[in-house]
Amino acid sequence: MPRSELSAEVLRLRDVAAVIADEVIAPAAALIDEQALWPAANMAALGKAGLLGLHIPRRLGGEEQGLLALSVIAEELGRACSSTAMCFSMHSVAAKVMAAKATSDQEERFLRPIAEGRHITSLALSEAGTGVHFFLPRTTFKPVTDGFELNGEKSFVTSGAEADSYVFSAVEEGSELDPGSFTCLAVEKEASGLTWRDAWRGYGMRGNSSRAVGLDAVFVPRDNLLGAPGDQVWYVFEVVAPYFLVAMAGVYLGIARAALEAAIHHLRSRRHEHTGKSLSEVPVLWGEVAEAWTEVQSTRQLIRYAARLFDAGSTEAPLALFAAKARVAQTANSVTDAAMILMGGRAYADNSTIARLHRDARAANVMSPTTHLLETWLGRSLLGLPLL
Ligand SMILES: Cc1cc2nc3c(=O)[nH]c(=O)nc-3n(C[C@H](O)[C@H](O)[C@H](O)COP(=O)(O)OP(=O)(O)OC[C@H]3O[C@@H](n4cnc5c(N)ncnc54)[C@H](O)[C@@H]3O)c2cc1C
Repeated sequence: MPRSELSAEVLRLRDVAAVIADEVIAPAAALIDEQALWPAANMAALGKAGLLGLHIPRRLGGEEQGLLALSVIAEELGRACSSTAMCFSMHSVAAKVMAAKATSDQEERFLRPIAEGRHITSLALSEAGTGVHFFLPRTTFKPVTDGFELNGEKSFVTSGAEADSYVFSAVEEGSELDPGSFTCLAVEKEASGLTWRDAWRGYGMRGNSSRAVGLDAVFVPRDNLLGAPGDQVWYVFEVVAPYFLVAMAGVYLGIARAALEAAIHHLRSRRHEHTGKSLSEVPVLWGEVAEAWTEVQSTRQLIRYAARLFDAGSTEAPLALFAAKARVAQTANSVTDAAMILMGGRAYADNSTIARLHRDARAANVMSPTTHLLETWLGRSLLGLPLL
């Protein structure tokens, strides 16, 4: 990848992320996976470097970057530790949702602390009842004196019980069946009525502290409403979906890249005693490496193409964004699979790096918008049908 393809600013941010990825995040990745530890020190390092404020306006101390920078940084983190990259990604999407229509009070209470690395947030959209249809919350809110009362249950909240705040989605009581009804509210971790369930024991992504949370008459101050009631389905397709799709695409591309690099290293360094030659000299393996490299490169180009379209305000962006995340799921799975074979019995060992990457990659297809949904949306859009 020629360095000039990215702006000086994005390159600077990428280099900052790469140093933290190499020096802080990668060395802790195996332990985070093995013990399902939430990556507090990694998130603190990202905060100290200013990367948690990636989408916060400059006047509030942030980097004011768009999707291209997000894709590049998520890839750097994803190659080092997918759990950390996931927590960073959910934070970044939630921070963008907060920043999209922030009031001056919200700017001071949420955005400035985020830019200063003092506040971590996350997204609480999914619910067991509606599954992958993250845009159809059944959690309700109703107006009470000075604010709202939230009731319901969320599932799979990344950084659950660890973040300082959460962006919850809800529908107004009585409008649960209205597909256009969707409201985002920022809820601080201290809010009474939040009951965190046990951490979900994931097959992969084991350090992201994904867990369900019950909301029992949670009081949310009026000042924590994000945007105005009524316009809020706007958040789903203008903010949540694009930022989430690109963040996830970056994370899973990082997984594929790490698997490819590990496989190349293995083939070049592993020598059989009876030949004295490295595996890199076995012709049948050349094509597999070539195929994996091509998948990683072409997926990266698709992701960056989609990110650039969105950053430029193109109406074509949604198609490319849907395709990018669907494609990265395929790439992450096939490249980690290929690496597992190319690296032989060592890779198949419990807790090997490739085993971790292989497990982490499996989440790409099931995190919503899932590959099924994305291919449905892409196909319907191309055929001139409404998305939903
Ligand atoms: C590691 C991890 C982290 C997560 N972090 C977060 C988070 O921070 N915040 C958050 O809100 N959520 C999060 N999620 C939740 C995630 O985005 C999905 O909502 C969740 O995984 C859906 O799971 P489910 O079992 O309910 O799927 P189901 O809804 O039961 O779907 C099962 C399968 O059926 C397919 N399917 C279902 N309905 C349709 C349809 N109409 N059309 C086509 N295919 C369909 C799906 O594609 C899927 O393959 C996380 C999930 C994981 C695994």
